[in-house]
Amino acid sequence: MERKVRVRFAPSPTGPLHIGGVRTALYNYLFAKQSGGEFILRIEDTDSTRFVPGAEEYIIESFKWLGITFDEGVGIGGPFAPYRQSERRSVYKTYVDQLLESGHAYIAFDTPAELDAKRAEMPNFQYDASTRMMMRNSLTLTKEEVDQLVANGQQYVVRAKVEPNEDIEVNDLIRGKVVINSSVLDDKVLYKSADELPTYHLANIVDDHLMEISHVIRGEEWLPSAPLHVLLYRYFGWSDTMPQFAHLSLLLKPDGNGKLSKRDGDRLGFPVFPLNWKDSKTGELSSGYREAGYFPEAVVNFLALLGWNPGNDEELFSMDDLIKLFSIERCSKNGARFDYEKGKWFNHKYLLMKDNDEVARMMLPQLQAHNVEAPFEMVVKVAALMKDRVSFVKDLWEPCAFFFVAPVEYDEKTIKKRWKEDTPAQMRELVALLQGIDDFSIQKTEEVVMNWVTTNQYHLGNVMNAFRLTLVGEGKGPHIFEITDILGKEETIRRIERAVATIG
Ligand code: GLU
Repeated sequence: MERKVRVRFAPSPTGPLHIGGVRTALYNYLFAKQSGGEFILRIEDTDSTRFVPGAEEYIIESFKWLGITFDEGVGIGGPFAPYRQSERRSVYKTYVDQLLESGHAYIAFDTPAELDAKRAEMPNFQYDASTRMMMRNSLTLTKEEVDQLVANGQQYVVRAKVEPNEDIEVNDLIRGKVVINSSVLDDKVLYKSADELPTYHLANIVDDHLMEISHVIRGEEWLPSAPLHVLLYRYFGWSDTMPQFAHLSLLLKPDGNGKLSKRDGDRLGFPVFPLNWKDSKTGELSSGYREAGYFPEAVVNFLALLGWNPGNDEELFSMDDLIKLFSIERCSKNGARFDYEKGKWFNHKYLLMKDNDEVARMMLPQLQAHNVEAPFEMVVKVAALMKDRVSFVKDLWEPCAFFFVAPVEYDEKTIKKRWKEDTPAQMRELVALLQGIDDFSIQKTEEVVMNWVTTNQYHLGNVMNAFRLTLVGEGKGPHIFEITDILGKEETIRRIERAVATIG
């Protein structure tokens, strides 16, 4: 029988969530939703030395913003609560004891100083089958000595006892069969008496098992841990229900050389985090997609295509489309180059898809910030006309400002080129002409003005550019009759008169 799909995102709250982690969560979400499965948020906070306050809240807020929802987990609850590993201490101890009893793990007392000394003595030292009998652990000490040390409160760790010379198979849905020889693995620490907490490896396996996780979809950086995980499932006798692995390829730097890092973002000026984050220790600020003006749908679409493709050239997908189309088989084995310009392109596309009322509403704070009051219908018209020119709503003010604030200065270069001796007289004629138009629509105004230019055999380029200069203050902007339509008759005339008075 097919297992119910249950996947999890299991971040460690060690700082802001990297955009690669967001992509991992997105793929898990899409996979869960398309198969009617469940998506779980588990917080893996057993490494107290790396815990960062606020990181968990940041992670939750990021997904809320992106519209990626969880069915169970921290902040939601569910049948396997608690979902925060630091609250599950008592759960793990049983499993540590089970491994000790079955002989798949052992207690080691080596202090950090002793381990350092060993590393100095043996250049390629690794705690494994070849060295463990030289160390201070329950394999080399008598049971009485071990009990005595533990009773005395001596700190210890529990290590996995990995037997050498075995080919371990990891069946990966993206990479196929990956074989690793156990001799290269070390006896990883699974538990520390110091804080009575398991390490990532043990807690991760135990929780995936207890929470009935069917698929583990995670970043490539976790592939080296997978052989040990396969072994742990076997040691516990859980191999039959071991989740299926899928290790996603890395997000690469824009030039394709190496892993995308925060430094690349700082250097090239783009965010690598979903939301702004301020490091409470250093005060350092990292910028986020939300604050940079991205639409969450654009970020989701952009990330979905970094490492997955639909098999055709289509690029614009809503979350619902993605849920239908996503497949692990179409995830790439090779790293995905992070093309930031493409991210902007997606935002532009989503901006175009927004209806004009919504774009107008998003523009209102900018108008307020510039003390501008304008009828909402006018803002809607401006939004409709101008949104094609930018990638972000926040960039709309600059090219749109002239609609709301009449020019008081006029571009010198355009004056020199277009404002001829006869221009003031022509502009006065134009004012009279416009005054006579009742239907001030784009078509009608254009027709009347063009007629006037032709009949009088005026220089079309000079007249139109001078006209534009009076309305915009410079020689650029959208189609002139789109502008007159939005400004209206009175304001258009007022601007021409003012320019004539000012430029002379
Ligand atoms: N806690 C690990 C992380 O921070 C989880 C890795 C996994 O998904 O197994 O990514």
